[in-house]
Amino acid sequence: METPGPSSTPAPSFTPYAKPQRRSLPIRGQIALAFGMFILVIALLLWGLQIALLGPFYQMIRTGDVQETAAEVVALLDSDTLDEQVREISNDRGMVVVVTDEEGAQICGYRPTQRQSLLESLSRSQLVAKFDEVNLAGGTLITTYDSPYVYQNGSRPKVILLLRVVRTPAGLARMVLLESEITPVDAVQDTLRFQLITVTVVMVLLGALMAFFIARRISRPVAAVNESAKELARGNYDIRFEGGGAREVGELAQTLNVAAEELSKVEKLRRELLANVSHDLRTPLTMIRGYSEVLRDLPGEDTPENVQIIIDETQRLTDLVNDLLDLSRLESGVVKLDVAPFDLTDSIRTILARYDKLADYSFPFAYDREVTVNADELKISQVVYNLVNNAITYAGEDKTVSLTQTVLGDRVRISVSDTGEGIPADKLKDIWERYYKVDKEHKRAQVGTGLGLSIVKNILDLHQGAYGVESTLGAGSTFWFELPVESASPGDEG
Ligand code: ADP
Repeated sequence: METPGPSSTPAPSFTPYAKPQRRSLPIRGQIALAFGMFILVIALLLWGLQIALLGPFYQMIRTGDVQETAAEVVALLDSDTLDEQVREISNDRGMVVVVTDEEGAQICGYRPTQRQSLLESLSRSQLVAKFDEVNLAGGTLITTYDSPYVYQNGSRPKVILLLRVVRTPAGLARMVLLESEITPVDAVQDTLRFQLITVTVVMVLLGALMAFFIARRISRPVAAVNESAKELARGNYDIRFEGGGAREVGELAQTLNVAAEELSKVEKLRRELLANVSHDLRTPLTMIRGYSEVLRDLPGEDTPENVQIIIDETQRLTDLVNDLLDLSRLESGVVKLDVAPFDLTDSIRTILARYDKLADYSFPFAYDREVTVNADELKISQVVYNLVNNAITYAGEDKTVSLTQTVLGDRVRISVSDTGEGIPADKLKDIWERYYKVDKEHKRAQVGTGLGLSIVKNILDLHQGAYGVESTLGAGSTFWFELPVESASPGDEG
């Protein structure tokens, strides 16, 4: 027979995880970049504010001072002690103060010690010219200029010059001249520059160090988790994730560990299911094929018994496929219950009536009242059918399956008992698992698919109903389930 060989075209290489869409920086890079930007912005801000704005800022303050002082001097012009007060002001503020009349004659003038003044070098005619100029300009003139005098350290101070022309209350025309240096700013700037350089260097070093350590603490565990996740994606479900560093990374590792365990469980179940299903499908098919060939090839073998075997095996296949479909729908959670009140007692009576054709078996049903429950009638019937079918399969010599309905407070319990071989105590838990059969081998001819009790369990779980089994080896088993009672009314003993 020809079997399909491996295809000649090479298989596309398997990439279990998607590559990142666009090149993005690793965590280390991003942290380093963020720190770098942060330090840069802070440094720019500091330097910009201190160096660029300090000069103009200081000049503004000094100009304000000069204007204030001018106003003070103007207020004193008519005073007898003008001379004295002007000297005081001049010394206090460190400004050159000169007062002249309109002819340029100096009325008083002072300069703080060791300060050279441009004002004092102005000639009388220059002063008169200034007087007219200021008058024309509206009474006040403020100018700044670089001082002609150079300091010992080579710096040349800036000077503010304020000229104001007024007429005093006594009617005298006066010109007030003020001169102030803006010297300190250079010295301050030098100090500041030194401080800034120190701060910047420390900031860069510290920032780089911090960025390095933080990046290492964060990126190392993430990289480790990432490597393990790639392993997981390749199908290695036994991989364990190590957390560490940040709490989120630890939690991520925990979550991934749980996910890996779940995946490995699902994978195991999938393999089992596939093995079971293929086995259970193949066996009846082999039988059907075998018997059909016998019927075709051997004359006289087309007996009703042989045909019945084929029919039975087709029925087994149908049952299996139906059970599989039911179970997968129940387990996938797509099944919606069609809940409505119905007479459970009546429903069970109807089901049992269908078994009447099984002449060998008897189905006594004990109940003392009609009980209505709020549930999905079709699904609950399926539960009863599955339990009764099992009881028939495993029934004892007496071929009796007894049903009992008991009302326990607000619940009703339905029990299905047989007097068969019973179930070993250590298997009682497992029988509810799908595909579980206590005795896999020799019961095959009569036993079902191993899915019946799983379906029962799923339906009762959906109803949030209790269920269970009591069994004594050699004496029989009692399967039971409970549902909340909607209403109950006395009925005939069944
Ligand atoms: P199956 O289709 O094999 O009956 P079930 O899921 O209904 O599958 O039952 C699982 C297993 O539980 C059965 O294979 C059988 O071993 C055991 N079992 C179920 N009901 C009974 C019973 N009434 N008496 C003894 N064993 C039972």
